[in-house]
Amino acid sequence: MKIALIAHDRKKDDLIQFVTAYQPILAQHTLYATGTTGQRVIDGTGLPVIRFQSGPLGGDQQIGAMIAQNQMDMVIFFRDPLTAQPHEPDVTALIRLCDVYGIPLATNMGTAEVLLKGLEEGFVDWRLIGERRG
Ligand code: PGA
Repeated sequence: MKIALIAHDRKKDDLIQFVTAYQPILAQHTLYATGTTGQRVIDGTGLPVIRFQSGPLGGDQQIGAMIAQNQMDMVIFFRDPLTAQPHEPDVTALIRLCDVYGIPLATNMGTAEVLLKGLEEGFVDWRLIGERRG
């Protein structure tokens, strides 16, 4: 599966903790991330991550483009609901595309844990039906 990881600045430490805790599961999948988040995950866990632009510079939109092309299977997006983001429209657009295409999306750690446990149990395997991706 292709999994996107994104964390706003004040949530990045939480995401590193989360990725560390679920490293055995995440290591079995292909990880993508916005620029700074991806670098933090690489430095903090050693997991390989394909990095896009930083979120405010278009990284959220790049992940959205992958969703629109049926190239992303899950999005874990630790949002900061207490801080205004300069790229709020991009954040909204990304969440909207997850809803358009029915892509599993977690916007906080509680839901992210449920998603990864579901992933491990095979609840997301429907994404592999008619595998069409390179
Ligand atoms: P970043 O982007 O990983 O480059 O910080 C995340 C975001 O703010 O959307």
